[in-house]
Amino acid sequence: MRSLSFFIRSISFTIMLLSFLAIQLNLCFSNTQFSLPDLRIDGHFTFTNNEFAAKDYGNQYQFLPFAVLHPESVSDISATVSHVWDLGVGSGLTVAARGHGHSIQGQAQAHRGIVVNMESLKKPKMEFEFGFDFGYVDVSGGELWINILKESLKFGFAPKSWTDYLHLTVGGTLSNAGISGQAFRHGPQISNVQQLEVVTGKGEVVTCSEEKNADLFNGVLGGLGQFGIITRARILLEPAAEMVKWIRVLYSDFSTFTRDQERLISAKKSFDYIEGLVIINRTGLLNNWRSSFNPKDDDEASQFKSEGKTLFCLELAKYFNPSDNTGEIYEEIESMLSELRYIPSTVFMTEVTYIEFLDRVHTAEIKLQAKGLWDVPHPWLNLLVPSSKIQRFGDEVFGKILADTSNGPVLVYPVNKSKWSNRSSAVIPDEDIFYLVAFLSQANPLSTKGKDSLQHLLSQNKKILDFCKEAHLGVKQYLPHFHTQDEWRAHFGQTWETFQRRKMAYDPLAILAPGHRIFQKGIFDL
Ligand code: FAD
Repeated sequence: MRSLSFFIRSISFTIMLLSFLAIQLNLCFSNTQFSLPDLRIDGHFTFTNNEFAAKDYGNQYQFLPFAVLHPESVSDISATVSHVWDLGVGSGLTVAARGHGHSIQGQAQAHRGIVVNMESLKKPKMEFEFGFDFGYVDVSGGELWINILKESLKFGFAPKSWTDYLHLTVGGTLSNAGISGQAFRHGPQISNVQQLEVVTGKGEVVTCSEEKNADLFNGVLGGLGQFGIITRARILLEPAAEMVKWIRVLYSDFSTFTRDQERLISAKKSFDYIEGLVIINRTGLLNNWRSSFNPKDDDEASQFKSEGKTLFCLELAKYFNPSDNTGEIYEEIESMLSELRYIPSTVFMTEVTYIEFLDRVHTAEIKLQAKGLWDVPHPWLNLLVPSSKIQRFGDEVFGKILADTSNGPVLVYPVNKSKWSNRSSAVIPDEDIFYLVAFLSQANPLSTKGKDSLQHLLSQNKKILDFCKEAHLGVKQYLPHFHTQDEWRAHFGQTWETFQRRKMAYDPLAILAPGHRIFQKGIFDL
């Protein structure tokens, strides 16, 4: 009898406690709801019609925020984060910076939190500075790379390192790395930044560089938005060319293809851009949604059949100015090509302007948008594979797992580790040369079981990841995505302690970038 009354009392106590917590939680949310509009800011908050902030390019995760901040000044962002910091751990509120929302797995979302719409931050304007042979530009963290390109070209300059697609924000790519065909020479975009202005998880506005607040500077670069919101960045520039010779050649043998790629990225005299594509069982194999390559001998290219085979396409570009001695440039290109061992009849070339080349994916995007094929689920998988393991990786993945089809472009190209700082937060394999291998699949939203269904593509990704793990290839994910903290620990390996220490120093309540699910507000496991 006594134990029954004890049981009833315990239940009542638990119910009371839960109701109390629920009331507190609701109070916190409603307090915040009422207090946010009272913040003195230059921009504004929206509490409805925020569905755009619960979407991204991946089209798989949708978490609606409680509010969206449309900042007009850095102090708007600082005031908002300070406010959340002051509310303390009990509020449960988090803050995610959203660049152009081109993440794949909800990384820029904040479930019932505050999303900062970084593209609203337009002030102060871009500011250029030039010396005899150098230049840099100070830009907002919410600026699109395409706008930086257009503005810099007015001075005859351009950033040194790119992504393949330019409708991404500075803050979004610097939080990851920013890799493209120029990275072998200049390093990723995070190696081409001189200074940052950051709003930390405590709401402080801090200017940082290698000389000043270096720990924060290095932490933020490749730091997945965990230590601060980038509000301003100083991007290094170089004199820009006017034209680009754009070349594709084909290989049937993977090891010959990668040997040539590595030879090119290690040579003193080389191309300005080096990438590669895997072509699995296709006709018209030189084009795909990711670019708008129209070679002069277009008929031959579009008729080209891989006849069930997997081919490897080396993609190269050489920048030049028409006022230069073009004969000499063509000779140089011929000489570099003559050292490669591609299939002799498969050289496809075209010439485009510098901006057409850099903005090539957008041209393809417009076509896909028109067909309604841009906003479909994108279960992308990006891996960094050590050079010593690329053959083993290729044999299994291109020879077996993806032997008959790929649902989107597959990129494979090497970069030099020496061009990456070992102080930044970016996680890379421990080898002098490693490859970016990008499986850029798109799923058919109407297909539930076919080879183009989201389910099938996700299970294919899992097969690839399982193989890498079982074969101990030392592969790291780029644009990483994990479900548990143990997986994150394994991803960071020896740098996990530094990553965790920086989190404690700059965002101790785990307010920032909750979409990665690395740390959880209130459950900070140290
Ligand atoms: P979002 O998706 O909005 O944000 C990404 C992450 O950064 C989130 O965690 C967010 O909270 C955080 N973040 C955003 N802004 C800030 C800020 N100001 N301060 C701090 N954190 C911030 N990547 C490459 O490296 N090379 C490529 O060639 C390449 N090509 C791509 C092509 C396409 C079509 C797409 C969709 C993506 C491509 N990406 C590439 C990946 C891209 O770099 C990342 O997805 C990047 O995060 C997207 O930038 P975004 O501005 O849309 O950022």
